[in-house]
Amino acid sequence: MRKTLLKIIYPYYCLSCKNELNDSYLCRECFSAIPLLKEQLCPACEKPSPFGKTHATCRQKTPLSGVFVAMDYKEKIVQRLIHQYKYKFVKNLAEPLANILIKSLAEQNKELFFNTNTVITAVPLHPIRLRWRGFNQAQFIAQKLASRFNIPYENLLIRSKNNPTQKDIPQTPLRQKNIQGVFRLNDIPNVKYQIESPIKSNIVIIDDITTTLSTLNECATTLLPLKPKNIYAIVLARGL
Ligand SMILES: [Zn+2]
Ligand SMILES: [Zn+2]
Repeated sequence: MRKTLLKIIYPYYCLSCKNELNDSYLCRECFSAIPLLKEQLCPACEKPSPFGKTHATCRQKTPLSGVFVAMDYKEKIVQRLIHQYKYKFVKNLAEPLANILIKSLAEQNKELFFNTNTVITAVPLHPIRLRWRGFNQAQFIAQKLASRFNIPYENLLIRSKNNPTQKDIPQTPLRQKNIQGVFRLNDIPNVKYQIESPIKSNIVIIDDITTTLSTLNECATTLLPLKPKNIYAIVLARGL
């Protein structure tokens, strides 16, 4: 009854083909048709690099060991999915979006990012923004990945400054400035212990959209005192 009522108020339909569905926003056919990025780029020089690993010669320029991006935001369906999820607060899109990440990681090199000693985390929202949105869209997806790969999820970072959103800032240098000093480490003693133990961990940061990588670089810089072996980022889409 409740479900029927909900269906009348919020009918489920595929965001791509508009077919009516029972309990999701993406039909199976459209899910498999989503274009995944075939080529990954080095986060420092933005030239092609297998699996998005930072080139050995670029390691001095970024604290990130690699960035993996699943989709291109220029694709209409990708825009529609992320927009509904992020700005229309359609929380149940977290599942298909996480599935897209899992699918594209499986097609590439999942083991590079997730080994037995990995901690997964998400780009945090400022508490004010979190209250307004009701959920952290990156964290939702990160937690779904964590449970699928059986890896611990931890809120390693706190956003201590409520800076203007990056997408409202036009230029890369200004974006870098806008994000500087925005994050600090969350105080989780046992995680610190895990990461500082002799077998050092990988940290994987999850975000929804990236354009200039400024936010992810800043997150990684903030995580450096934990001395992880590698800091990787996994992102749904490369933005405009
Ligand atoms: Zn469809
Ligand atoms: Zn490079």
